[in-house]
Amino acid sequence: LRPLPAGRGPVLMRAAATEAASGSETFTYQAEVDRLMDMIVNSLYSNREVFLRELISNASDALDKARFLSLTDPSVLAGREELDIRISADKEKGTLVIEDSGIGMSREQLLSNLGTIARSGTRKFMEAMAAKGDTNLIGQFGVGFYSAFLVADRVMVQSKSPEEAKHWVWEAKAGSHQYSIREDEAKDLVRGTRITLYLKEDAAEMADTVKITQLIKQYSQFIAFPIKVYAPKK
Ligand code: ADP
Ligand code: MG
Repeated sequence: LRPLPAGRGPVLMRAAATEAASGSETFTYQAEVDRLMDMIVNSLYSNREVFLRELISNASDALDKARFLSLTDPSVLAGREELDIRISADKEKGTLVIEDSGIGMSREQLLSNLGTIARSGTRKFMEAMAAKGDTNLIGQFGVGFYSAFLVADRVMVQSKSPEEAKHWVWEAKAGSHQYSIREDEAKDLVRGTRITLYLKEDAAEMADTVKITQLIKQYSQFIAFPIKVYAPKK
């Protein structure tokens, strides 16, 4: 790994054949994101359950932001007063869904937050890895959103921000170097983010509510918002 050039901002590159009739746009990851994802998947394989801690911690950050904004602007919570995290595990479908009623992401935020590593923590992590090549560093820095690809071969992120009337869907397949964004016609999120993990075959156990409940106890016991775990209705 080479250190990143200083001062380099997010680069959003539009892939060649982009705009499908559906209004979906495809983008190519910033090269560093590709490298980070490879690094995460290669070095964390035996400890891949950390993905849940990372996604719950993002949900919690988003809920904190919604709560903070609502202090000066209570309308932020309109339509969905509860601040919580809901996790649904469906063994038959092989999916795990993590939903929060936090601040959500606008289209621009989806593009810059999930397509680049402009975030300082990740940048420092990449630099430390370049200097030391020590995979234990991952534990110190937190691997973030991309750890979803430890257990999922496809990740769908639906999000609704109070800043924007439109609902958006971000979607990516593991190893594809690309992600797409389109308007979410379903519009069933009042506010916040729903992340659907289409689990890899060898990660099927992550669709088990017993396993998920155990991981929450193990890694996320200090989260300040309620975490509710659901199985599909029989
Ligand atoms: P970090 O949490 O260290 O910033 P992540 O890779 O975990 O890094 O997340 C990247 C960014 O994506 C977050 O900083 C946040 O802006 C955005 N994000 C991720 N998950 C959510 C979520 N559930 N709700 C709102 N924003 C999110
Ligand atoms: Mg995070």
